[in-house]
Amino acid sequence: MYSDFKKFLQTEIEEIKNAGLYKGERIIVSAQGAVIKLENGKEVLNFCANNYLGLANNKQLVDAAKEALDTHGYGMASVRFICGTSDLHKKLEAKIAEFFGTEDTILYAACFDANGGVFEPLLGEEDAIISDSLNHASIIDGVRLCKAQRYRYANADMQDLEKQLQEAQKNRFRLIVTDGVFSMDGNVAPLDKILALAEKYNSMVMVDESHSAGVVGETGRGVTELFNKRGEVEIITGTLGKAFGGAIGGFTTGKKEVIDMLRQRSRPYLFSNSIPPLVAAAGVKMVEMMSSTNELQDKLHFNTKYFIDKMNKLGFDIKPTQSAICAVMLYDAKLSQDFAAALQEEGIYVTGFYYPVVPKDTARIRVQLSAAHEVEHLDKAIAAFEKIGKKLNVLK
Ligand SMILES: *Cc1c(COP(=O)(O)O)cnc(C)c1O
Repeated sequence: MYSDFKKFLQTEIEEIKNAGLYKGERIIVSAQGAVIKLENGKEVLNFCANNYLGLANNKQLVDAAKEALDTHGYGMASVRFICGTSDLHKKLEAKIAEFFGTEDTILYAACFDANGGVFEPLLGEEDAIISDSLNHASIIDGVRLCKAQRYRYANADMQDLEKQLQEAQKNRFRLIVTDGVFSMDGNVAPLDKILALAEKYNSMVMVDESHSAGVVGETGRGVTELFNKRGEVEIITGTLGKAFGGAIGGFTTGKKEVIDMLRQRSRPYLFSNSIPPLVAAAGVKMVEMMSSTNELQDKLHFNTKYFIDKMNKLGFDIKPTQSAICAVMLYDAKLSQDFAAALQEEGIYVTGFYYPVVPKDTARIRVQLSAAHEVEHLDKAIAAFEKIGKKLNVLK
């Protein structure tokens, strides 16, 4: 049978390539950081990692991980409830709850698993999930695994959300679900308005803080801090793979009973391995660092404002953003690819996105700022953008 299947796959892959959608991998031979070394020996400035706080190669985190390797070994070789729970896992769960002002936390191997395992154990067919149309793929998949009735509202559109909530009044329990920061535009969910509607229409709220934790809010507590609503949403999910060190791991944090039920019934928690103790140890260190000083959060906020202000002054079309994501709008798909390639020639590493990753005719280059960037890095990137922008005639 495989020879037929092979032909089938080859044809499909060819079609992906012909559509210009084939995803390759760019190989990095150094640690993740502001400056990275590529396989060809070239060093480039990195503006497309989720390394918002620059912790991916932070000395204190590396040391904490090394120490845990010596005290706790390499892996747990078990799921949490059999014999896969170490003191470091419990410590990290408590630290994350403290950080977000929530009651309890459950760790997962990734936020993809946290989202995949959050809905099905909590809600049934009498219930409603009301989901933002731009929510992350893992939320979409998680909702698919749950029998609850599905409602969708246009991105951050409060009129549409209200309409969906009215329809969902017939359901038993309601849960509004939103990303904290939407990764393609960098806009934040209007959490103050969402919570007001949740109150009016008797609904619960879940926020995925993957792109906002460590980034948004004065001390990086995410959108609940930005809108002064800490502790007010029932469920928060997030990742250890972005601002929080960039290794691996995810979590759900929130109301005590919710977390308790997830420990009983959430399948990615029950049937998948614990995160390595060294990752938990570095995570504990990460929360301690972020709580003892605001240096990294301040630097990220400074860098973001610096970069965006200068890009706006140059005449680039920048999507309004409240995060460390800066979408430089080019609209044309080919232009976005040419622009990104030209930037790479200048030693600036970014990604151009176009349909179907973003809506048709809204191609863009997504720049992600980091506390790892120094002003000289930002200046170099801005100069390269200016040079290519003039050459390709995109400045206003
Ligand atoms: C990145 C991301 C995830 C997935 O996180 P992992 O820990 O890498 O699985 C989930 N939700 C959102 C909103 C994300 O941006």
